[in-house]
Amino acid sequence: MTPASDIGLYVHIPFCQHRCHFCAFYLEMAHVDRLARFYSALTHEIVLQGQSDVLHGRTLQSIYWGGGTPTALPPDQLVALLKVIRTTWPTSPTVEITVEAHPSSVTCEDLMVLAEGGFTRISFGAESMREQDFIPIGRHGRACDTATAVQAARTAGFLNINLDLMYGLPGQSQQDWQQTLELMLQLDPSHVSCYALTIEEGTRLAQDIVQSRVPPVDDQLQLDMGAVAEQILAQAGFVQYEISNYAKPGRHCRHNVLYWTGGEYLGLGPSAQSYVSGTRFGNVADLDQYATSLNENRLPLTDCTRLSPGEQERDALVFGLRLLRGVPLQAITGAERDSEIDRLIARGLLTTDHERLWLTSLGRRYADSVAECLF
Ligand code: SF4
Repeated sequence: MTPASDIGLYVHIPFCQHRCHFCAFYLEMAHVDRLARFYSALTHEIVLQGQSDVLHGRTLQSIYWGGGTPTALPPDQLVALLKVIRTTWPTSPTVEITVEAHPSSVTCEDLMVLAEGGFTRISFGAESMREQDFIPIGRHGRACDTATAVQAARTAGFLNINLDLMYGLPGQSQQDWQQTLELMLQLDPSHVSCYALTIEEGTRLAQDIVQSRVPPVDDQLQLDMGAVAEQILAQAGFVQYEISNYAKPGRHCRHNVLYWTGGEYLGLGPSAQSYVSGTRFGNVADLDQYATSLNENRLPLTDCTRLSPGEQERDALVFGLRLLRGVPLQAITGAERDSEIDRLIARGLLTTDHERLWLTSLGRRYADSVAECLF
């Protein structure tokens, strides 16, 4: 159980060397002058947020560096930023500090600087262990870089290592996916995230599919791949605790669990989102505007919405149902909803022990639609 005063911090580093064809995130290409501008603006944002009372009396239970590719910044700068954060806000003695990294972009020396500088968890965007899968999704780097990066992270002292994988890639067969899972297991990570590829509007991949340069996603095959991942990872001793996330005992990602349990978090960096005291707010998704605003001593906020009790309840249900342990039944009952829950249970999508309600294995494949039915 997380104490009520605990909160998470998310730091968004919006740089990559290339844009993958499936990626719809706000991104900047990693040029030296842009990185320097960002570093100075982010330092300023930490100081300004520290002067505001938004986190007054709160303790950081997790700090998550995501992107983009956080390791686009030199490791000594990441460590320096972490020091500024830790002198600005108190951190829990067990604080989890995750950094995302591209396996092809880090050296053993970089990882040692990060581990010695206080980062406790590393998450590599492996995507697949087969290089052929990289071509249609425009993912740069070599598949063998993941094994090298994991080995280097372990040598540097990281015990908590996540690998992100994607399935349902264009041209990927069930056998290919199983091979990726098996090769990944040989690296012995403590945490694995398996995401179904989604085709985002406006991406190069969406265009390639429309123009028949790349085959479309086979929805049924993708569902079957999700089921195979559940089986193979369970056999390998991983506990599935969320639709896409699997951990060795005790190695779940504390920061992400915060999102799924209605926990609060402050986001820093361009496009970062926050949820504090029932209010959602976000930073502008533009590096120039972000830096200009901070130069003028203004936080780079672009929107701010106070959630109504109904909206908070809806979020708690939508996110809570993603967890394998589900949500307390008491929190979501009501005459109309009870009959919908009964209908979803009869269809094999939900199940209950009369105290909690959770998605079945079939329900996990259609989680968004199930949550929609309850509102
Ligand atoms: S590495 Fe990640 S953030 Fe960067 S372009 Fe690829 S998918 Fe997007």
